[in-house]
Amino acid sequence: MIIKYLDLNAINDSYGQPIIDAANSVIKSGWYLHGSETEAFEREWGDYCNAKFAIGVGNGLDGLKLVLQAWKIMYGWKEGDEVIVPTNTFIATALAVSQVGLKPVFCDVNQEDALICTDENYLQNLVNERTRCVIPVHLYGQIANLQKIYNFAEKFNLQVLEDACQAHGAKYNYKGQRTCVYSFYPGKNLGALGDGGCVTTDNQEVAELVRSLANYGQKTKYVHDYQGFNSRLDEIQAAILRVKLRHLDDDNKRRIEIADFYQNNLPGDKKLNFQNDGSHVYHIYPYITDNRTKLQEFLKENGIETQIHYPIPCHKQKAYSSYSNVNLTNAEYLADHELSLPNSQILTDEQAEYVVKTISKYFVLNDDYVK
Ligand SMILES: *Cc1c(COP(=O)(O)O)cnc(C)c1O
Repeated sequence: MIIKYLDLNAINDSYGQPIIDAANSVIKSGWYLHGSETEAFEREWGDYCNAKFAIGVGNGLDGLKLVLQAWKIMYGWKEGDEVIVPTNTFIATALAVSQVGLKPVFCDVNQEDALICTDENYLQNLVNERTRCVIPVHLYGQIANLQKIYNFAEKFNLQVLEDACQAHGAKYNYKGQRTCVYSFYPGKNLGALGDGGCVTTDNQEVAELVRSLANYGQKTKYVHDYQGFNSRLDEIQAAILRVKLRHLDDDNKRRIEIADFYQNNLPGDKKLNFQNDGSHVYHIYPYITDNRTKLQEFLKENGIETQIHYPIPCHKQKAYSSYSNVNLTNAEYLADHELSLPNSQILTDEQAEYVVKTISKYFVLNDDYVK
């Protein structure tokens, strides 16, 4: 049996003709940017996320940059002002901060769920008079503890930007105003057939400023209030996303089913703790194990593709070499022990069982697991 980590071809095939029809009708319409498909998708995505406003953008990184730039303008943040970022994330979260002239302050993650550390004493120690914002990343598809993060932010007068690029459709029970960024990179739970992203927010001023900044800083054509960016969700991607959005809840349900099966049946005593209240949509199923290299090799020999998210935390990347003396032990542990197993809406029961069986076999053969 061969199990790909993520079979995008098969996934997109599963939506059938409607995707092709959606793209075709845009091609034939002669209108490719800033049109009715993008507008309709923004409305539908905003509704789906319970957000007052949704602004389609070019990708997830742009979405993060645009919100930070908007806040920089709105609140008069200065170059080098600080933003707290969990180090166990895709590099985009940190790059967005750096690229708008702010400074990422890397923080550790919780040992039990790999999400941004919610120990208040720890977080408080990262705050100084230049701290402006905190970015919880809903890593692997699970919503971070929003109540704790927003309480902390309120106490120190910080903005909260949720990096929801892995958490499309994850349920949350926080009641206040939120600003979130999504990516529709092809491999995400809701993926385009190219690049795409969206900013959702309950704040009208943020919405208007992000929209303007994404469109060269203009609100009226050729009148530029800001030195903006060019960042657009195009009409073809928006039309395709509208088709796929109709299936997102079902797709997520299947991912959750498989992840629950893994969680309940995989051997090992180092598994992360996950909530099973719909707040985790398992963009990634992370398996924590000693001897990862050997297990990954064994799985490969047995036809199972895996990945690592992420092998190097941001603060240990060469791109952020000034942080190399910082130690963030939980994130570093995860970077050395995490192995992402295949999970998607098209994985069959048989395939998921084969993954579990193969890992169990590995432990029997290698005698390094005691139940
Ligand atoms: C995918 C991702 C991004 C960036 O999305 P792009 O569309 O590739 O720019 C940002 N943050 C996280 C956590 C992601 O997983």
